[in-house]
Parts: sequence; structure tokens; C-alpha cells
Amino acid sequence: MKAKTAVLTAVETAEVIDRELPELGEHDVLVKIDANNICTSEYGAFNGARKRPLPLVFGHEWAGTVVEVGSAVDSVAVGDYIASGYQYDPYSEPSREGRTSECTELQSADHPNPDGYFGNAGCANYAVAKEVACYKIDKGIDPSVAALLEPLGTCCAGFRRFGIEYGQTVVVIGAGTMGVLNALVAKAHGCRVIITEMMPKKLETAAKLGLETIDVSKCDPVEKVRELTGGKGADGVIIAVGASGAYAQALEMAKEKRAHLLIFAAGYPAPKWELDPNTVHYRRMVIVGSYGADAVDFREAASMINMGAADFSQLVEEKIPLDKIQEAFEEACKPGMYRISVQCQED
Ligand SMILES: [Zn+2]
Repeated sequence: MKAKTAVLTAVETAEVIDRELPELGEHDVLVKIDANNICTSEYGAFNGARKRPLPLVFGHEWAGTVVEVGSAVDSVAVGDYIASGYQYDPYSEPSREGRTSECTELQSADHPNPDGYFGNAGCANYAVAKEVACYKIDKGIDPSVAALLEPLGTCCAGFRRFGIEYGQTVVVIGAGTMGVLNALVAKAHGCRVIITEMMPKKLETAAKLGLETIDVSKCDPVEKVRELTGGKGADGVIIAVGASGAYAQALEMAKEKRAHLLIFAAGYPAPKWELDPNTVHYRRMVIVGSYGADAVDFREAASMINMGAADFSQLVEEKIPLDKIQEAFEEACKPGMYRISVQCQED
């Protein structure tokens, strides 16, 4: 069977091809994809900021309906509405210990396929996925919102390891898609959440979602955080932008002793951070890095989407049909955009 599949063929060039789908393996499902959102890592490859192998059949943030299942599939059925997490080998050592995201050979978004294309090929009208990568979403939820499962799952993963508790104050630096999703996860866990940003549009979205905002174009965010916390500083700071200045700022915003920092974003080119180990030592700091998500995190993210934990539709900037994939990427690359959602069915 052939699928209309989006492919990045060169920097600044995306097109749609008819690509033969692989045979359905015993643990595979065939999914009719409704929406695939364009991830930061993908428009970074489109605009040349990130090096990835080409031609790349990208797409890992999608939602759709199961239309066929392999002979051994038992956790999902034809007709189920699902969104994608990561595939993994359930019998591998990391998976047995709950760290499913560490089955790296199966998870890479750049893996080679026998036909010469690289990637997961989720931005298509049909895709073959592993049963373990599928998470059930309630019917009636907008596919572009359901497709936020993967980025939301990574925020659940970060929060799980952050070590911040109910009632504590968290500052999130940066109100991009990942900053806002991190903030919503912290809020869902009962934290007071303050988010810093300079773009008026993003500040507005964050405020609409019930987050306290600091407009860094109008004040010194460090002083403002101190003021809002009675001079104490934040219990935790999540760095959700890949900019060098954010790291020093996070140290200053954090409370003096036992603060937790979560390093969430990557920057291209790589940000610089001069960290004095004595500071970490004397201030008894906890510094956590997070990337990807395990099955437990995707289940939590699916619950958040299904219960309507927030108005996630605020993060869907625009819906663009698959045939206009070039335009979709051009839109995604504009500064300040939330997710561009590619609509994969013609009707
Ligand atoms: Zn992603």
C-alpha cells in the first residue's frame, strides 16, 4: 500500500511523495493519520539550524485512527483513536526498568529505512506504527491537540525527575510551545507557575492559559521573581529556551538553598554556561537534565489531554493541509509560532 508522505529533500525544500508502506509486522498497526504537528527539531532541519540525514520522512507528533492490526497486537484495536509516543522493545533491559526511552536504536527519529529514506514517516495520510508507541485518546478531541501527546509527554518526564512538589513555586523561562507545556504540567501538579517571555503574543497565550507572566522587555525578570516570591526566589526553575543568558538568570532567580533547575531545551548553536561548582555545592542545588519520555510519561500526558487539563488548543497555531507541506514549514519557521498542524486527510 502506498501512502502520501511528506519528505524533507533538502534544506528549505519539503514535498509530498507516494511512498510504499512497509508490510505490517505482527506487533504493528496501520494508522490513518488525521494530523501531524511540526516539531522544533523538524523545522530546525528545514531551515538548516540542525543537521539531519536527508531525504527525511519526518513526523513523530501525530494522531489518527487504527485501521488494521498485526496478528499479535492486543493493546489496541481497529477503530481506536490514538496518538503517538515512542516505540521501544519491551524486553530490552532499559524497558524492563521503566526507561523505555533509552531503547535508542528503535527510537531514533533519523533511522534509515530500506528504501533510502530516513525517519518515522508520521507526516503522511497513512503510517505503520508499533503497537507500544500508541496511546488511546478520547474520540472527539481535536487531532491537532491529540498530536501534542509527544511534546507533552516529554514535559511529564521532565517534571517527574524535577523533584518539585505540590505547592512550590516554579519559574519557566520561555513561553514557546515547550515552555508553556512545561508550565501546564507543573500547574497540573499543584505548583504556582510563573513564566517569563518577551514576545507580546506568547505572553498573551500564557496568560490565557492561567499562568502568571513576567514581560522581560519591561522589567528585570530576576528582580520580579524575587518580588513575587517575597524575596525568596523560586523553588524550581525550568529553562525552556536554548539561550546562554537563561542559565545565569536561572541561578539568580532560584532560591538560595536547595533550589532545583531543570534543563529542558537544547540550543543550536549550543548555549554556553559557566557554572561554578562551588555554587552548586554551597547552595545544595539539584540540576536535572531531561530529554524524551518513557511510557509512563506518555500515559500521564494522555490522561492530561483526555481530562482536558488545560486548553491545549491555544498551542495549535495553524492547520495546513498535507499538500501544502512547503508552506507549512515556512509558517513553522516564523518567529513566535506555536505548533503548525499538518492535516493529513483530504476531506
Ligand atoms: Zn517533537
